[in-house]
Amino acid sequence: MSSDSNSGCGKEDCGCVSRRTVMKGVGVTLGAAAFARAIAPLTEWAQNISADEFLQKHYKELSLIDLKVVLRRLEKETKEHYGADVTISDTKPQEGVKFGYALNLSVCNGCRKCAEACHLENNHDRPSNQSYIRVFEMQKGSMDMEQGNAHYDKPVPQPDKFYMPVQCQQCEHPPCVDVCPVEATWKEPDGIVVVDYNWCIGCRYCEAACPYHARRFNWTKPVIPKEEINPDQGYLSNRIRPQGTMEKCTFCLHRTRNGRLPACLEACPTGARVFGNLLDPNSEIRWVLEHKRVFILKEDLGLKPQFFYFFDS
Ligand code: SF4
Ligand code: SF4
Repeated sequence: MSSDSNSGCGKEDCGCVSRRTVMKGVGVTLGAAAFARAIAPLTEWAQNISADEFLQKHYKELSLIDLKVVLRRLEKETKEHYGADVTISDTKPQEGVKFGYALNLSVCNGCRKCAEACHLENNHDRPSNQSYIRVFEMQKGSMDMEQGNAHYDKPVPQPDKFYMPVQCQQCEHPPCVDVCPVEATWKEPDGIVVVDYNWCIGCRYCEAACPYHARRFNWTKPVIPKEEINPDQGYLSNRIRPQGTMEKCTFCLHRTRNGRLPACLEACPTGARVFGNLLDPNSEIRWVLEHKRVFILKEDLGLKPQFFYFFDS
């Protein structure tokens, strides 16, 4: 790849285009006024980025030395912008591991502790109370998440309802990846779909392409009090995301690739959540898949989510 990130990755026929080329293309398509409105959060963001950040290569093109330099720079920037001492690491996927998640809808009581844990673990913006998990209150008998209510405010559980948390389904065939014009998002070998926040141009195509509404956009610079920042951070997961970029659930890869469980699972008081390695025949997730009648959301779309739901029966 060229040292100038404006020139794309530099490989012949790779299909990768530069951030600047795409921005120009979007401008021609939309017209000047609409383009100005569409990129308003980005122009604000562009004024705030450093030359090093602008020139940074795509994650996949970074050598180990490059990556180390980037991680230390990001730690320094977090200290400057937020006053917090953090460690940003980059644990790679392990061979023989493919992560899957299952959720027992018979025991989920809609308490939203999972969504709260996600908010804290992943250093989400505080004023918008952002989380990668939405918990839907569902009418018994319906499995259509589009009919669920994510804004319920009565005590839970209500007698005629059940509760269905939805987060990134880590699709085997992720349409969010296919539509990204700059390859800023991709599926890792352990099944987790990630975003390089420093490569994303914030066009939001992926958000529109996701049928599970699992992606979130940083309209503003995230606000988090220094003392609330989770200092254990991953480059592809919970480091504080820049304004104007897309983000999503990564199954807490900074934890799970190091043998820990996702924060949402640890926070669940009812034991509704099961997580593990789909390739390990002795894992709890495999037991669930083999002994419960699991289903996936929007199966007709053929995206093969690696997130499963079941009821006790
Ligand atoms: S659930 Fe949405 S964001 Fe997650 S992999 Fe599937 S399409 Fe992409
Ligand atoms: S917003 Fe989504 S589609 Fe657009 S560049 Fe970022 S990751 Fe890619």
